[in-house]
Amino acid sequence: MQKEFTLRLKPQEAASTETIQTHIARTAGLALKEVNGFLITKQSIDARGKQVWINLGVKAFINEPAVPRNRTTYLFKQVTHSPKRVIIIGAGPAGLFAALQLLELGIQPVVIERGKDVKSRRRDLARLNKEGIVNPESNYCFGEGGAGTYSDGKLYTRSSKRGDIDKVLQLFYQFGAEESILYQSHPHIGTNKLPQIITAMRQQILDCGGELHFNKKLTDIHCNDGKIESITTADGDHLKADAYILATGHSARDIFVLFRKKEILIASKPFALGVRIEHPQQIVDAAQYHCSIREEQLPPASYSLVEQVNGRGVFSFCMCPGGIIAPAATDPGELVVNGWSPSKRNNPYANSGMVVQISEEDAFNYFKQQKQPVEAGPLLLMHFQQAIEQKAFQAGGGKFVAPAQRMADFCNNRFSSSLPDCSYLPGLASSSLNQVLPGFVYTSLQGGFSSFGKKMRGYFTNEAVVVATESRTSSPVRIPRLPDTLAHPQLSNLYPCGEGAGYAGGIVSAAMDGQKLASMIYEKLK
Ligand SMILES: Cc1cc2nc3c(=O)[nH]c(=O)nc-3n(C[C@H](O)[C@H](O)[C@H](O)COP(=O)(O)OP(=O)(O)OC[C@H]3O[C@@H](n4cnc5c(N)ncnc54)[C@H](O)[C@@H]3O)c2cc1C
Repeated sequence: MQKEFTLRLKPQEAASTETIQTHIARTAGLALKEVNGFLITKQSIDARGKQVWINLGVKAFINEPAVPRNRTTYLFKQVTHSPKRVIIIGAGPAGLFAALQLLELGIQPVVIERGKDVKSRRRDLARLNKEGIVNPESNYCFGEGGAGTYSDGKLYTRSSKRGDIDKVLQLFYQFGAEESILYQSHPHIGTNKLPQIITAMRQQILDCGGELHFNKKLTDIHCNDGKIESITTADGDHLKADAYILATGHSARDIFVLFRKKEILIASKPFALGVRIEHPQQIVDAAQYHCSIREEQLPPASYSLVEQVNGRGVFSFCMCPGGIIAPAATDPGELVVNGWSPSKRNNPYANSGMVVQISEEDAFNYFKQQKQPVEAGPLLLMHFQQAIEQKAFQAGGGKFVAPAQRMADFCNNRFSSSLPDCSYLPGLASSSLNQVLPGFVYTSLQGGFSSFGKKMRGYFTNEAVVVATESRTSSPVRIPRLPDTLAHPQLSNLYPCGEGAGYAGGIVSAAMDGQKLASMIYEKLK
């Protein structure tokens, strides 16, 4: 017999197979030998009280042999001779999962990617971190796997209505992720493990007769009669297909500029901007687990904080326990930070974005106050994002050294005479961040930090460092699509996709959007 149980165990107990089995037997009123094994179906941490609990959902095998977990294996068709082909621009999660979905459905995907393969890309990241030189085509955002490859690899999403989350997780598992992502409440892969998974996806696409071209950047599109007729790439190629999925991510500003120039409909989209905060991990552990030293069986703690300050939302974003702050800029002269952590989350620091919602009106007023020319329109928020990133770069003094301030100093408008150690490899420069951030962002963050300090013991401390600027939280531009066909309103074979088009906010939602568009295109082409 197979039976489901819910267990509430201490961390030490949850780490031991024998103890879990004993708890199952006790709960079911059975002898221990009757429980032949179990599978974990759900796992979450409840750290609300003094005692931290691990909640486990388990499926037990009682008086019958235990069997391994059912694996859903997705099958991909050979598409070399497929009569239909779809060009996918961008090999991020949206583009790659669209390609895999097309393979399942028997359509040939041709993926073009401006950046390099994962391995070559690693060298450009090392150069960025060590020498402060960014390659505009190969960085934390551009290259095989997109922003997802050297991301943190948290696979949690709230977008359950947008698609099949389970299928995305199963596919990550099929291509090499740990089994635990299938049952943990906040699954995480880790930056060190993502490149192999992305490489396995590439191999699958190639083995099935799909194409994947690196160093191939879309530079122009040619339209006729409400359709894309062909596209041009930077190396002078002209490519044609039955449909085009545009999955170029939120940092492909040249795509937004191209659309504007060609009078293809785009719209500005509110996004969030702020800073990244780094605490010693031990402070976060102590606050969240109510102890001075974290129990060995517990993972480094995380947090999620949100507050309304003067009618504006201030919230934490992409929290990376045991993580690293990374330089995520795509162009020289602009400073952007983000965060990641290895699968073990074993760095001594905890970082997270802390951001404030930005509207078009905010951007408009900002440029007016700065006495800078301002043009309302779809690129307004993108120009605002760029302006702040340039200010941050200048304040750091170049080479991606980031302007920074201690947290209490930030809140008290005090210059920090020294800065704490930080994981950010290009280095920090002590700066007054009120010279970098717009006034309303700065004051909202001040209010946010003070109130988070009241919610989370130890959060408000001068041991924490505030690093500018976290500006690529989502796309500042939306590329519209029709609700029934998901195609662009002016171009019936163009499918804007993923985070860059404004339809996703992370790895899983981007992947689901890619799958959704591929299925829609299949229905249309068949
Ligand atoms: C450091 C870091 C950590 C992150 N951590 C997480 C996390 O833990 N969890 C999470 O859910 N999300 C995380 N994210 C965000 C996540 O990576 C993105 O939400 C996701 O990758 C978006 O997927 P996408 O496919 O829509 O776009 P992208 O991943 O941005 O991919 C777009 C691709 O298009 C290519 N491209 C752009 N322009 C062109 C062109 N003209 N021609 C050809 N190719 C082009 C780019 O090179 C890129 O490869 C993180 C991001 C970063 C940078």
